[in-house]
Amino acid sequence: MRPEIMALAPYRQGKQAGADAFKLSSNENPFDPLPAVLAALEKTTPVNRYPDATAGRLRDALGARYGVTADQVHVASGSVAILYQLVQAAASVGDEVVYAWRSFEAYPGLVLVAGATGVQVPLTAEGGHDLDAMADAVTDRTRAIIVCTPNNPTGPIITSADFAAFLARIPADVLVILDEAYAEFVTHGDAVDGLAERVYESHPNVVVLRTFSKAYGLAGLRVGYAIGQEKVLDAARATGIPLSVTSAAEVAAIASLEDAAEAELRQRVAVIVERRNTLISALRAQGWDIPESQSNFVWLATGQRTDEVAAAFSAADVIVRPFSGDGIRISVGEHESVEKVLQIAESVVEPLQ
Ligand SMILES: *Cc1c(COP(=O)(O)O)cnc(C)c1O
Repeated sequence: MRPEIMALAPYRQGKQAGADAFKLSSNENPFDPLPAVLAALEKTTPVNRYPDATAGRLRDALGARYGVTADQVHVASGSVAILYQLVQAAASVGDEVVYAWRSFEAYPGLVLVAGATGVQVPLTAEGGHDLDAMADAVTDRTRAIIVCTPNNPTGPIITSADFAAFLARIPADVLVILDEAYAEFVTHGDAVDGLAERVYESHPNVVVLRTFSKAYGLAGLRVGYAIGQEKVLDAARATGIPLSVTSAAEVAAIASLEDAAEAELRQRVAVIVERRNTLISALRAQGWDIPESQSNFVWLATGQRTDEVAAAFSAADVIVRPFSGDGIRISVGEHESVEKVLQIAESVVEPLQ
């Protein structure tokens, strides 16, 4: 075995919750699947047959929605799979991949698996990307940059203007992966939206990633997508494992894009956004310094007290995602979970001041 792989911790999922617990550790959607999605799943291809290897119908639907060709759409079993494919395609031994830190916990591992070297650029004090420092970190060995907006786990967005200024500093042959897993929860008017702004056209080295796991509530089915230039996505298609997107995932995603389903989903997202804003204001009123989250989670900067504070949540049957020595990410979940989170947060806030 490669020593760097043996040294890598296996993926640890947010703790599975007991029946009475709130599971707020994986940024999942708390709502039950839409009836239209369940109905579509019942009519899916028999499972003795392989799925459509190209997920053609889903790529057509996404292409129509975003005004691109089906070849400018790539679908995989979660956008995490696309991150792996793109980094694998772009970077290898001796190459560098730049990303902010702390950010999505999958980034360090996927860079290492590709054999490349990760270059982590610290977040700003407000929990956002330091795009100037990230551009400064680019060398002639940099092959890819991952940009996460809103940033998981802290929540702030990147503005369109800042992203444009950043891209202007990045060589055209460096792949820029814009990870927008939480785009649907963004209400900030100046936030970059890689799809609405078609940044992959003005900058062919940009690929935009989205997922059905968060706002669309299909995390268990594993389906995400990329929009970008056909040639760039061909590289991801070449490194991907064929037939990974199941028929069930494809039909559920297509059903979710239908107008009626989408309208219902948008209402749910609006509910979660309102809950998020309530949670942020109430936590701030308690004295917490909460970054400006535009996603479906909030970040408690608990520092050295992280394990102890996470234990207080656990003991009260609220499963959160602690990052030891740094902070705690809490997903915006069921209505009833909000009050509970606030009670626990209040009980531990004082000694932090
Ligand atoms: C959840 C998440 C993803 C994608 O999840 P999939 O379920 O693999 O689509 C990608 N990036 C970030 C930052 C995420 O938080």
